[in-house]
Amino acid sequence: MCGCGIGYNHVVAVHRAILWFRRDLRLGDHPALLAAGADGAEVVPVFVVDPAFAASGAPRLAHLHDCLAELDADLLERSGGGLVVLHGDPVEVIPRLAAELGADTVFVSRDYAPYGRRRDAAVAEALRANGRTLHGVGSPYAVTPGSVRKDDGDPYAVFTPFSKRWRQHGWDVPYESPGDVLLVGAGSDGIESDPLPERPDVDAELPPAGEQAALDRWRGFLHGALGDYADDRDRPALDGTSRLSPALKWGTVHPRTLLADLDASGAGSTAHTVFSSELAWREFYADVLFEQPRTAWENLNPKMDAMPVDTDAGARHRFDRWAAGETGFGIVDAGMRQLLATGWMHNRVRMIVASFLVKDLHLPWQWGADWFLRHLVDGDLASNNHGWQWAAGTGTDAAPYFRVFNPTLQEERYDPDGTYVEHWVPEPVEPMLDHKVERDDALRRLKSIQS
Ligand code: FAD
Repeated sequence: MCGCGIGYNHVVAVHRAILWFRRDLRLGDHPALLAAGADGAEVVPVFVVDPAFAASGAPRLAHLHDCLAELDADLLERSGGGLVVLHGDPVEVIPRLAAELGADTVFVSRDYAPYGRRRDAAVAEALRANGRTLHGVGSPYAVTPGSVRKDDGDPYAVFTPFSKRWRQHGWDVPYESPGDVLLVGAGSDGIESDPLPERPDVDAELPPAGEQAALDRWRGFLHGALGDYADDRDRPALDGTSRLSPALKWGTVHPRTLLADLDASGAGSTAHTVFSSELAWREFYADVLFEQPRTAWENLNPKMDAMPVDTDAGARHRFDRWAAGETGFGIVDAGMRQLLATGWMHNRVRMIVASFLVKDLHLPWQWGADWFLRHLVDGDLASNNHGWQWAAGTGTDAAPYFRVFNPTLQEERYDPDGTYVEHWVPEPVEPMLDHKVERDDALRRLKSIQS
């Protein structure tokens, strides 16, 4: 048994490559997997349980565990060998495994988020030191971050022109299935694996995991709720959205697959255009974060740095009420309770609770973003933190800070018969504050940094 949990009973084969899975936990439509096996190499499928994951919330880690278990089962069914799991710092365990397997190349789908970029640069360097290569093929996006540019080469900071150019750029059709790739996994050829990471105990009822579940969900949505998506997607009481965000987060399905199916089933309809625009938001935020990694936790618009926010003991207390779903505003509390119970929250409600935290409670958006990342199954740095900045008026959107959501009017408009709120908040509620007073306070604070 070697130090990273891999043991060998006999001499390794001549030509091997490693496919290091990260945010691409599927076998279909997977260009890095195809590239790894393209020249007839035996491909060893690997996942590294990085200690850095400890910072992710328990629901996300539990869902990751479930996705890995599904991938392992899919690999076993397909090749007779399972997923090779390694625990440790990728900078150490990947080069060590490559040396032990005699694999010259480690294939990955490229990561464009700040931590992933740093990690991959360090792993590439460690491999290079021994004459090996980290080879990136594809990404978790239909259009690779950094590719959509203005005529003068500058990146976009506003969504609508980005999305127009994103469509013009276009994307690949889905890649063929890995039928010819020779996978050699754990349990075959003397290759051993560490156990999957322990599944954290979570109370939240998490969605089904893995590639097949993602494709089933997508096909159900494509032939069902998509038709009314343009109208229903803002109604949290309805099952009117795809709920594919966890699948996109972990790459159990690729957006390319979704876009190709959309085109095949009738491009041009309003529902298709609106749905592909939502995918474009995901790609836009990934692009912005790629260009400006500092915006993960800092305001994109530095002028907003001067905005006074509260961080004292009273602010902490208000935060705790928000987080527990005890603000006394039905739709805010319903959303926060849905998050705790399911690890997911409807997009319209994410916007409402985020606006409430920033503009009614006067708290830093980073507090809310951090809470979301610790509780969302789909927690994603780019979409989450730029979604928060959008709501806080510090980010990409041209929409100004003085657009303040009124939670009562939002509830009347988007949950008109009260079904959503009653489901999560059955008891009578007493608002913890007067929205009009807090709105005026938010606008006063804004004025103080403008004069
Ligand atoms: P659908 O309506 O079916 O949309 C399809 C896909 O498009 C989604 O799965 C998602 O990948 C993408 N998408 C849709 N809306 C957005 C959007 N506004 N921004 C970026 N991508 C979008 N999404 C995450 O995946 N992870 C997050 O951590 C996250 N945090 C958010 C925090 C805030 C404050 C806000 C306002 C939004 C956040 N979103 C996040 C975006 C959005 O709320 C979710 O993607 C969406 O609710 C997921 O549900 P769905 O898959 O049914 O979406």
